[in-house]
Amino acid sequence: MRRALPAGTLASMTRDDSILDDEAAWEAVQRRDPEFDGRFVTGVHSTGIYCRPSCGAKTPARKNVRFYRDGAAAREAGLRPCKRCTPDDVARDRQAVALVLPRLKAAGAPIALADLASGVGYSPGHFQRIFKRQVGLSPAAYGRALRMQRVDGALDGTDSVTGALYAAGFQSSSRFYEQAEGRMGMAPSVWNDGGKGATLYWAVVGTSLGDMLVAASEKGVCRLSFDEGVEDLRRRFPKADLVEGGAPFNCLLQQVIDAVEMPGAAYAHIPLDVRGTAFQEACWKALRAIPPGETRSYADIATAAGNAKAVRAAGAANARNHVAVLIPCHRVIRSDGSLGGYAYGLEIKRRLLKKERG
Ligand SMILES: [Zn+2]
Repeated sequence: MRRALPAGTLASMTRDDSILDDEAAWEAVQRRDPEFDGRFVTGVHSTGIYCRPSCGAKTPARKNVRFYRDGAAAREAGLRPCKRCTPDDVARDRQAVALVLPRLKAAGAPIALADLASGVGYSPGHFQRIFKRQVGLSPAAYGRALRMQRVDGALDGTDSVTGALYAAGFQSSSRFYEQAEGRMGMAPSVWNDGGKGATLYWAVVGTSLGDMLVAASEKGVCRLSFDEGVEDLRRRFPKADLVEGGAPFNCLLQQVIDAVEMPGAAYAHIPLDVRGTAFQEACWKALRAIPPGETRSYADIATAAGNAKAVRAAGAANARNHVAVLIPCHRVIRSDGSLGGYAYGLEIKRRLLKKERG
């Protein structure tokens, strides 16, 4: 015989014909699992608010939480809907995203967020949030991933794309990359011991500057170079597992290509997995702070990195940069105005600077 539960709990609620209990609901809330949106709402009795399971607000204390079948039941219990996650709009949000997905799948080029949002009656910011909550990626990143898939010839039916993205762990990877946003010099996983235990995803793509090798760990881009191939990567990371392509990597790769091909493109959000001494990392940060189209001297970089006298060490940090363009060492020139050196040849340096100056 089943234990009697207080009214308003999920004891009798069904999900896929199975009974979802309070424990499963609580686990979904702790995971902020969007799969459960619309299946119940989370009543937080300390604040008097109810939320959808995926609400991004701080997870409430378990003792203050009770679960309700829907918004109506929560309101009956005296609760108000959360303004942040708008738990009563789940169905409308789902429908809006469902309408936009085919548009993104059919598009061969990016569609402006404002255009997508107005098509379903949402403001751009709000639509971006609900889309991300459901899909795990922004509309722009999702569109980019679909286009990459298409380029790879992996697209043989629209449904399989989504399946492939999820199967490849795209959602969790993209979340990881978001968290890593703009960070540098992270865990030394790749850089110790020849990359032992690390998986590196890589590709060589043709660009206007020649063939470009891009490699990334799960933490971010660890190598960007020109005129190199997988053999060079293997020499650098002899103990790493090297994997060509893959959906999460391709999304990152597309952002890297944009950063290289489009002068002034934002790239600060692209995560890097690089490692140097504290001074080298300070130099790399200083390089990333140089606006596109501008140049600095080695003395400027040394000063920005906190040691004006270490001009030669700043030059060495430049030479030790493994991630061209994203750490823009090409923006450093000699104090007499001449180009100085560049690991991939002065022609590429000259062309990068010319692109950026427009
Ligand atoms: Zn909420």
